[in-house]
Amino acid sequence: MSVVLVVGSLAYDSVKTPSGKAERALGGSANYFSVAASLFSKVRVVGVVGEDYSQEDRQILLKREVDLQGLQTVPGKTFHWEGTYEQNLNEAVTLKTELNVFAHFNPTLPSSYKDSSFVFLANIDPVLQLQVLSQVEKPMFVGMDSMNFWINSKQEDLKEVLKKVDIVFINETEAKMLTQTSNTVRAIKNVAALGPKYVVLKKGEYGATLYSAQHGFFHTPALPIEMVVDPTGAGDSFAGGFFGTLASQNKIPTWADLKAATLAGTVLSSQTIQDFSLNALTKVERSLFETQLSSLKAMMI
Ligand code: AMP
Repeated sequence: MSVVLVVGSLAYDSVKTPSGKAERALGGSANYFSVAASLFSKVRVVGVVGEDYSQEDRQILLKREVDLQGLQTVPGKTFHWEGTYEQNLNEAVTLKTELNVFAHFNPTLPSSYKDSSFVFLANIDPVLQLQVLSQVEKPMFVGMDSMNFWINSKQEDLKEVLKKVDIVFINETEAKMLTQTSNTVRAIKNVAALGPKYVVLKKGEYGATLYSAQHGFFHTPALPIEMVVDPTGAGDSFAGGFFGTLASQNKIPTWADLKAATLAGTVLSSQTIQDFSLNALTKVERSLFETQLSSLKAMMI
């Protein structure tokens, strides 16, 4: 069956951008990823929330038939992230990270999840990423994301995860930080040298680059968006579109599949950034996706 398992954060975010602000709005890497991926494939979530996580927010994933058997609800507060974007909308500045229920999270996979073929380790503590991956029996294709918070605080664990995945999604600043390189091309190659066969370098409004040592580089522009309201979740929506389309084919992806998935990711991320929280992403239907995908392709030939 075409199915993608994701482990990541389910969060309440407080975000300020030049367009305004949102207080304790729904966010988290697993939420953005799951909404995007569920347009194409079945999704299984591993994560944890506190007692403050609302039924309404849970419904967003349930409405899309996302499997929440792996979502624990425990006493305490849901993960809270506070960030701001100033002039450079491509870069979030983290003001506060309250791990709350994630601080003591011990992910145990429901037995029905163990046969998952596609696995995405969304932005979360790399120790938890490893714990989840070790419980999947025979994954076909594994991806990961991360962020500066973990590059700074748990770099050795992060490097362990990098050795075990097929693909990593990383933004330009983080790739340069992780590899201590100032040149983008060298940064991509150095990230690939840490383990993953494929690297997707995210460059915000300048698009994304897919790389493998065997196939070289594939560049896609971003869709031109005039009103970027809130870039939060762009990376996770990208990964959701990318993994969702790959999982729907249920085979080891070829280079051509990965190039097509890069376009799908680009389309989903361009939708997310047009409103706060998951407000824009949840409105995306397959027909809108197809139209935007055609526009993106038309920009590339
Ligand atoms: P991005 O797609 O990179 O913009 O991811 C944004 C989401 O990542 C937000 O909704 C946050 O809740 C979540 N997030 C921020 N910091 C962390 C962290 N340290 N660990 C896990 N998730 C995080």
